[in-house]
Amino acid sequence: MPRKAPFHVMIIPTLGCPSNCSYCWSSDEKSPIMDTQTVDQTVEWLREFRKDPVTITFHGGEPLMAGLKFYRHALPVLADGLRHIGVSFAMQSNMWLLSPELAEILAEYKIPIGSSLDGPQEVNDSQRGRGYYEKTMRGYRTAKEHGLSVRFICTFTSQSVRFKEDIFNFFMENGFVMKLHPALPSLRGSDPDSWSLAPQDYGELLVYLLDRYLEKINEVEIMNINDLCRGVLTSRGTVCTFADCMDSTYAVGPEGSIYPCYRFVGMPQFVMGNVSDRPSLDDLKASAAWKRMQEFKEYVNKECKSCRHIRYCRGGCPYNAIVPTSGEIAGVDPHCLAYRRIFDEINSRFNKEMFGGMRRGAFPEPYSDGKPSMMALMRKISSDAVQGEMNPV
Ligand code: SF4
Ligand code: SF4
Repeated sequence: MPRKAPFHVMIIPTLGCPSNCSYCWSSDEKSPIMDTQTVDQTVEWLREFRKDPVTITFHGGEPLMAGLKFYRHALPVLADGLRHIGVSFAMQSNMWLLSPELAEILAEYKIPIGSSLDGPQEVNDSQRGRGYYEKTMRGYRTAKEHGLSVRFICTFTSQSVRFKEDIFNFFMENGFVMKLHPALPSLRGSDPDSWSLAPQDYGELLVYLLDRYLEKINEVEIMNINDLCRGVLTSRGTVCTFADCMDSTYAVGPEGSIYPCYRFVGMPQFVMGNVSDRPSLDDLKASAAWKRMQEFKEYVNKECKSCRHIRYCRGGCPYNAIVPTSGEIAGVDPHCLAYRRIFDEINSRFNKEMFGGMRRGAFPEPYSDGKPSMMALMRKISSDAVQGEMNPV
């Protein structure tokens, strides 16, 4: 039997968002809200598009702006219409608008929520706006009262990276799983780089977090470090940034346009088709946007050929590489420097422990050069590596 290749569709009900984070690159207050007909057309399109299991993530903007009526229609229609291929759901939301009624229906469909907090209240509100922390925590309490699982993405900016220790402690003390994200150049303001995290600083941050994670291995969970180590161990990327995302990820915008990923929603030059036309994979492949993404893949094959990390890095995120140059493919993901720094560090620590231990005829010691061992982390992630699942963004 041919192997199933799970794929990921992000539904963006709107690009609007009630918050106003300083470094946001995507929100658009004039964005329409997806109507129920577009949801029905999305189901019709996906019914025939592929026979593989699909994860549908509601993303934005802020997806809860679509309201209760939208989800009361969308969830049963998607779940029933796609049951034959296997469907699961997720949501990325700041939870400000999470009413008990919305929480109830999300719980009914077992929808885990990825939310955003950038650390302690002062740090978070200094970059996400006054009152953000309280509103998200209110939503968090509602989510927990309804048994929903919530994880937080922590965006590190050029400002907040100075408080990395406070941020790490905040996640650990609150028992929150940490997933971090470097602030990208904003496409909205006149100074796109004022908040973005420089690649070198991002690389140093990852190494710092690796050290702290190893010290507190039983008290905290950092998903990015797990994913980076799993990539090195298995020689393939397990999150979209480090894999060829083009064949496994799609996004549907508020008006039914199909894009390669949520990050491109609202950019007409990256539209590959529309759900109302029920395009086949070949139809999407004929679009200029698809061809541009494939060109990036070929560019990486040449440009990163001599890099020892190519199999589990794949040139990073195509959005990061292509969009700042207005669609021109002039380089790989600018975070290359950070990726190389952390992949080198992980490889050299693994090698030192593995081969150092073998030379001594013993298992690697829990501490190597005064640093806690990578072996504990390897053990922690090895059971997940067997599953080898592609994590959604
Ligand atoms: S790697 Fe980048 S472009 Fe690809 S799915 Fe992930 S965020 Fe989107
Ligand atoms: S680390 Fe840099 S050079 Fe190596 S594969 Fe990744 S993007 Fe390419």
